[in-house]
This record gives sequence, C-alpha cells and structure tokens, in this order.
Amino acid sequence: MDIVLATKNRKKAAEMSRMFEGYNIRFLTLDAFPGCPDVEEDGKTFRANALKKARAVAKFTGHPALADDSGLEVFSLGGAPGVYSARYAGEDADDQKNVKKLLRELKGSEGEDRDARFVCCMAYLQPDGHQKTFTGYVKGRIGKKEKGDNGFGYDPLFYPEGHDRTFAEMEASEKDSMSHRGRALKKLFKHLAGLPVR
Ligand code: IMP
Repeated sequence: MDIVLATKNRKKAAEMSRMFEGYNIRFLTLDAFPGCPDVEEDGKTFRANALKKARAVAKFTGHPALADDSGLEVFSLGGAPGVYSARYAGEDADDQKNVKKLLRELKGSEGEDRDARFVCCMAYLQPDGHQKTFTGYVKGRIGKKEKGDNGFGYDPLFYPEGHDRTFAEMEASEKDSMSHRGRALKKLFKHLAGLPVR
C-alpha cells in the first residue's frame, strides 16, 4: 500500500517513516510530487488542519494521504501555543525562537503551572473519500532550560510524565514509544489493518 506523507517538515517525516518500519506500507514523501501546493494552516483545531492538508495532497497525488497536525498545549497558558506551535514567536519563527518565547511566557511559573501536553492529530484520507482521524496525547511538564540535542521543536523543554529526561535527551525509539505522534500512528495502523487489501 502506498501512502503519501503530507508534510515538508523533514524531521517529522523521518519520525513517521521510522514508525512505519515493519509495516506493509510504502511511504512516499512530497519530494516525489513536485508542485504539490502548500496549504494554509488556518484551522482552529489540529483535526481541521490535518484534514485540510491530507485532502489537498490526496487530490494532487491521487494516492491515500496521511497528514499530521501537532503542537504543544500549556494548561496555564490556556492551551497556547496549541495550533500556533510552529509560529508561536511570529511568522519568521523557528524552533529556537519558539522555545525562547515559551520560556519567557513561563518565567516565574512553578509546579503545575508548567504542566503541558503534546497533541497530534493524524488524518488519513483516500482519494475515494474514505477519511478518518486519530489523536494521540502525551502529558508532561515544561523545563526551565533546554536540555538535549535530539528531536525538534519543543523537545528540549518537554519532560514526559514519569521521566526526568526531556524528549531531546531520549533516543528516537524511546520518544516514539510514548509520543503523541507514536500514539496516533498506533491507532492508524490498527485502522489500516482492518481495511480491505488493495
Ligand atoms: P505543524 O507542522 O503545523 O504540525 O507544527 C507542529 C509544531 O508543533 C512544530 O513545529 C513544533 O514546534 C511543535 N511540535 C509538534 N510535535 C512535536 C514534537 O514531537 N516535539 C517537539 N515539538 C513538536
């Protein structure tokens, strides 16, 4: 089965293709489909954005598409940065700037006020119209300084519940085993296993 992964974020694509290993799925990236239009992520929910991306890619490529929209929700900040995680520090934001902005916003916050979760919504959409979304979560807390060099985004600040190392201090496979993306993908695999073989 061929599925096109609807993301231009190479680190995300690498994480997802790693998790596809061992499944009978050929995983194509957007590099194989030059000219695929960019989608404006203007939805108010992870689900709306994921479906919008998957729809555009399935339409353009003619293949089933898998899109992920994900982000970090800090409870004491009313769920921010949420769907704006990638551009929290503004339109020219990058991971470094976003991390610094989050540290500024949480300056002086202690204990529960640093509780957060990562959310990932995966949208799977076939050109014949079949569509389904799967959401994964991982709870944790936001550290006071960056730790670790692995991963991407807010990983150097995020301590998953029950761990004293950030995602950026973990091996890729350890992060995958508990991450929001890993959990959403597990649900997707279950769903795909139940679909008729094509
Ligand atoms: P998206 O590409 O619109 O889904 O943006 C997701 C943003 O959320 C990323 O740019 C990161 O800032 C953040 N994010 C999502 N998943 C992760 C993760 O696994 N680790 C760290 N940051 C993440």
